[in-house]
Amino acid sequence: MNAPTDPAAVQPATHVFHRQLHHGLPVAVSGQGISITDASGKVYLDASGGAAVSCLGHGHPDVVAAMHAQIDQLAYAHTSFFTTTVAEELADLLIDTAPAGMSHVYFVSGGSEAVEAALKMARQYFVEIGQPQRRHFIARRQSYHGNTLGALAVGGNALRREQFKPILIDVTHVAPCYEFRDRRSDETAEQYGQRLVAELTAAIDELGGDKVMAFVAETVGGATAGVLTPVPGYFKGVRELCDRHGILLILDEVMCGMGRTGTMHAWEQEGVTPDIQVIAKGLGGGYQPIGGILANGRVMDALRDGSGALMHGHTYQAHPMAAAAALAVQRVIREENLLENVQAMGALLEARLVDRLGNHSHVGDIRGRGLFWAAEFVTDRATKAPFDPALKLNDRIKQEAYARGLACYPMGGTIDGRHGDHVLLAPPYIATAADIETIVARFGDAVDAALSGLPQSAAAPK
Ligand code: PLP
Repeated sequence: MNAPTDPAAVQPATHVFHRQLHHGLPVAVSGQGISITDASGKVYLDASGGAAVSCLGHGHPDVVAAMHAQIDQLAYAHTSFFTTTVAEELADLLIDTAPAGMSHVYFVSGGSEAVEAALKMARQYFVEIGQPQRRHFIARRQSYHGNTLGALAVGGNALRREQFKPILIDVTHVAPCYEFRDRRSDETAEQYGQRLVAELTAAIDELGGDKVMAFVAETVGGATAGVLTPVPGYFKGVRELCDRHGILLILDEVMCGMGRTGTMHAWEQEGVTPDIQVIAKGLGGGYQPIGGILANGRVMDALRDGSGALMHGHTYQAHPMAAAAALAVQRVIREENLLENVQAMGALLEARLVDRLGNHSHVGDIRGRGLFWAAEFVTDRATKAPFDPALKLNDRIKQEAYARGLACYPMGGTIDGRHGDHVLLAPPYIATAADIETIVARFGDAVDAALSGLPQSAAAPK
């Protein structure tokens, strides 16, 4: 099943060190709106924007024009020597629409870089305010914060971490908010959330409340466990706990932020504000590599009134081309009222997924918010038992979807890094009702085809 769908579209020999060394890949040659076309002329509906990146789809004329204008004017200037109008305007726009307390944006070139900088910002903040004894991060299992060493260390993706463990900083991990599997039948969602907060309390107490720098979490879990939405009250409890101990709350909204869940920031739906927020994918929509950190005023003030600089930096931070692209993306989202479309099309996507797969004997859970949805697969809905990982069900669904001209984002190891399969859908904010209907129709057919291609015994309840 790993063979690419259409051999004519595949790059046969390559000197690119690709992510997967045994797979061929279709050669993408153009993109327009919600579609990508490969070298054979096959068109794919891009239903996940890669990894929830392409929030405006491909080739948006305003973004393309802004990038052309910027490259004609200035492609690069080092941030030790200059600022640029586009970076300033982008920061103004982000802060203008960021509620409560956020005062500055630190721009980098992607999500992992942003997480690294956020971790260092947290550490330096405590050094500057005279609490250098704070040295621990607490994060969650089955989370993802990036692949660089600091980000990988706070991340809880067991599979990605495994071989690198000996060279990762020590981080305490607590349970994710994974209602489908972990809420007990005798608990309400709120009680389950409070149980998780109690676990975090115990972890803080064990480390010492005055030794912890930050709790790091994706507001809505992303790729690793498939769109884990927080239960009501969970983040309020986390916020209170952090406040009680003077611990920073770092929310990673690289995947779930910048409108993906129907509000500009996913934390707006939780009634909490982070101290440091990490953003990336939807910030630039894939038009250029860009990530950023929104920092609360008190973090910024401590650094400004202290040493006067974050002891950090990259050659390409606040790159003018990236800032120009992201500025255009953010303006389009606001000018075209795309958050309203995310909410409306999100509701339609949920309804259609439930119609098509809600009673499917191998779909255990359909969960999400806005235009950010996942289906988790089980051999048996009563026991929630996962499929044998060797079957690579998630990859089979991806291949069947490809064959039907649909690109979606599959992942295995949903439960613990090894067991469990889910597929994520994250269509662009410009998706129409007709796009949503086609996505769900193709996705449903791909799921059925992948399951019917399994050995007979594999799909039987265990
Ligand atoms: N944080 C989250 C929540 C992510 O989903 C990702 C990427 O998928 C990252 C961080 C890392 O971002 P990047 O791949 O841009 O380094």
